[in-house]
Amino acid sequence: MSGDTSPARKPPPSARWWAPWANRRRRHPLREPDAPEAPGSAPLLAGVREYHGSTAPLVRPIMAELAFEQRPEHLFITCVDSRVVPNIITASGPGDLFINRNVGNLVPRHGSPTPDDSVAATVEYAVNVLGIRTITVCGHSNCGAMAALLAGGREVRHLPSLTRWLRHGRDSLVRFLEAEPGAGPDEPPLTRLCKINVMQQLDNLLTHPWLRERFEAGGLELVGLYLDLETAQVHMLDRTAGTFVPVPDEAPDGSPDGVPDGRALT
Ligand SMILES: [Zn+2]
Repeated sequence: MSGDTSPARKPPPSARWWAPWANRRRRHPLREPDAPEAPGSAPLLAGVREYHGSTAPLVRPIMAELAFEQRPEHLFITCVDSRVVPNIITASGPGDLFINRNVGNLVPRHGSPTPDDSVAATVEYAVNVLGIRTITVCGHSNCGAMAALLAGGREVRHLPSLTRWLRHGRDSLVRFLEAEPGAGPDEPPLTRLCKINVMQQLDNLLTHPWLRERFEAGGLELVGLYLDLETAQVHMLDRTAGTFVPVPDEAPDGSPDGVPDGRALT
């Protein structure tokens, strides 16, 4: 007689909420092999159904509390890249991060000849209305925007909006070229540019006079993060040394900083 009579087992890691849709599809195919191709929205809606069935009931009390007022403590500026998931890499939840995502996690400089107010508008609202005191710029390895900059923009020349947007990354490229060759760690050029870009975008934030004033008065903390995709490790910028170091497992005083109780993580 066949059939699985073993006791209930823990779901494999691919069943976890943070796993990509493709991992779930391997376990629960969306269509029979001979059936017509599922519409493109099928995985999205399957994901929503899974959310409604599993996570929504758990977060509902928190959402009900937050429904009429958000009180995020962090502004998180990062790339649009699908592999960067801010809430996963910071173990944060609804209401924690005020997020701005754009191609290359760029921050247009004050008075830039290529006008763009989207990032500045987010920063203005975050700091002046929401009272946020910490701004993070988070870059990542193998960033397509940085690769395009490194290639001189040739591969995106047929994309006028993207080409214009990437002008906001020019200072990063200049800084990278000035640092080459010989200086710095033994890393591939793209990795170095991805990291230098984080440093430069933090500096770009400070070209906005009101923000610099706030920073110099001690009312603002700037944080640089770099996500190494291959190892899934987050590195933090030491702005004085100009280097990135892995975020240590424990806070300097041994406490799990910011997480008041380990049980809250379960
Ligand atoms: Zn990117």
